[in-house]
Amino acid sequence: MSRDFTIEKMLELLIALKSREYSFVTFEDFISRDIKKAVILRHDVDKLPGNSLKFAELQNELGISGTYYFRIVKESFNPGIIKKIASLGHEIGYHYEDLTLAKGDIDKAFESYRKNLEKLREFYPVQTICMHGSPLTKWDNKDIWKKYSYRETGITGEPYFDLDFRKVYYITDTGRKWDGGGVSVRDKVNSDIHLKFRTTNQIIEAVLENKFPDVAMFTLHPQRWTNNAFEWTNELLKQNVKNIVKKVIVKRKNEL
Ligand SMILES: [Zn+2]
Repeated sequence: MSRDFTIEKMLELLIALKSREYSFVTFEDFISRDIKKAVILRHDVDKLPGNSLKFAELQNELGISGTYYFRIVKESFNPGIIKKIASLGHEIGYHYEDLTLAKGDIDKAFESYRKNLEKLREFYPVQTICMHGSPLTKWDNKDIWKKYSYRETGITGEPYFDLDFRKVYYITDTGRKWDGGGVSVRDKVNSDIHLKFRTTNQIIEAVLENKFPDVAMFTLHPQRWTNNAFEWTNELLKQNVKNIVKKVIVKRKNEL
């Protein structure tokens, strides 16, 4: 059996979804119109933005778009990469953690949020935001919205508030498995759709057998996919993105 949570496995998943005619929409797009069969690829760029750039390039080769949420901290915020990912047709959003940065002071946090949003908007007209879980701290970054409104800052959507998870299937790669949601402190939503997957192959199978929900948000952390620096260097950086895409497509065709 081939290994899971590799860039090739991601490609197989995307190709399977494409073959079943899912649209790949950005979060910004999704909340602004009615889409019947769609996948939102949400990427939380917690660290190693170079991995996200690889994801963005691969998706671009397949003609699909997603949303990339960048943090303001130096492990994530990289203007060169932000500009490149945007130029590949993806949406850029703010992965905010200002309440943590302000140590729980909501007023300071909102001030910091505004400033950081402006900084990100130097590179992209940001319309959506998404909280960073800050798992090692006691603050819930969403609490800033108990007092303030992100709509005042020209933001149209925050997945935890603006997606109806009773209708949108939510799945995340927490802990390099798909059913590890219980491990995550804050990255939880209440969903009516009870479907569990552990491996990427199980998802691919469900998609190909038309048993996967029509509308889903995948929350991806590209740094978790083959997160070994050695492997990334050797498997990806030397390989041309086009070749990886071709190889996976040929492999899939042979299997069908
Ligand atoms: Zn995060």
